[in-house]
Amino acid sequence: MHIAVLAGDGIGQEIMVEALRVLDMLDLPDLKLDHADVGGVAYRAHGHPLPAETLNLAKAADAVLFGAVGDPELDSLRRELRVESAVLGLRKELQLFANLRPAKAFAGLERLSGLKPEIAGAIDLLILRELIGDIYFGEKGQRETEEGLREGYDIMAYDESEIARIAHVAFKAAQGRSKKLCSVDKANVLQTSALWRKVVDEIAPEYPDVELEHMYVDNAAMQMVRNPGQFDVVLTGNLFGDILSDQASMCVGSIGLLASASLGEGTKGLYEPIHGSAPDIAGQGIANPMAMILSAAMMLRHSFADEDNALRIENAVADVLADNVLGHDLGGSASTSEIGDAVVAKLSAG
Ligand code: NAD
Repeated sequence: MHIAVLAGDGIGQEIMVEALRVLDMLDLPDLKLDHADVGGVAYRAHGHPLPAETLNLAKAADAVLFGAVGDPELDSLRRELRVESAVLGLRKELQLFANLRPAKAFAGLERLSGLKPEIAGAIDLLILRELIGDIYFGEKGQRETEEGLREGYDIMAYDESEIARIAHVAFKAAQGRSKKLCSVDKANVLQTSALWRKVVDEIAPEYPDVELEHMYVDNAAMQMVRNPGQFDVVLTGNLFGDILSDQASMCVGSIGLLASASLGEGTKGLYEPIHGSAPDIAGQGIANPMAMILSAAMMLRHSFADEDNALRIENAVADVLADNVLGHDLGGSASTSEIGDAVVAKLSAG
């Protein structure tokens, strides 16, 4: 269990401490942690947000535990040196094409959602977003039209192998959950989506136990607030997934509670909270470490097939929240370390 620990910037450093305490508590005999700089911290120390040393460590490790990057003082750097490019670079270099973002209501915290509590309470879904293709990575630029007007363009494209590999991950994920898969596209307008739908349909017979439906993205956005409880696994491309996964997380309520995994063909993955470096609260000891702790649980499940310990962590987190040990983001007053203490105490109590 060789883990590259990349805490990054702002609250990334503070929440990582608590996630590592939780891992330490589990007494994993093969655990080997190697730390490296990423983001603004790395730019200041090495002149690049993703130094070769960090990338090499991430490549050599079995999994990457990632805090957050983002440093407002470095926002004026040119695009390739911007600290946020470090996480995009890692995903691309490690070929992490599948992003898994679970969104689940926590009992007693439904009030945090902007949705009615009875609607928010039913949320238990997994968004599976393709991560290294689509319009974000297609040809792009700005040019002049024949009429002399400025024009921007971004090409949206998926080939069938890119669609198939993420579709297989989604069908398998659905098999491990409620066996319902909703593939989201815009096949009534986009050729890319028409192929997406065809390829997903071609793969479906390999998973006869999974019930597949297709939904247009505009309808999916509406259904996500009208009745999010209807969704189990949602499969979609990079652009639509970017938007829908943020929407789903906000339907749950707090940004400080949600984790994510980015996976490739093998078991290697990058695990990170969905939030950023939160510079507005960095250094105050009030960041909620739960999303980071839950990212470590996802790592145990997906990279090390350790479902038992993943569940132990997830249950401990749920119990701590049920005990009303809440961070400032949830209207409570518990500090980062107090929340970590509470999770560790639950784990040690068995
Ligand atoms: P953010 O997620 O960092 O913060 C948004 C708001 O949520 C802030 O008010 C913050 O205080 C609060 N918040 C976030 N996480 C919290 C936690 N664990 N506990 C308590 N409160 C929490 O988003 P932002 O402010 O838009 O971005 C800040 C920086 O982070 C930017 O530089 C941005 O580019 C970067 N960012 C990085 C990642 C990443 O590393 N993957 C993701 C998103 C944003």
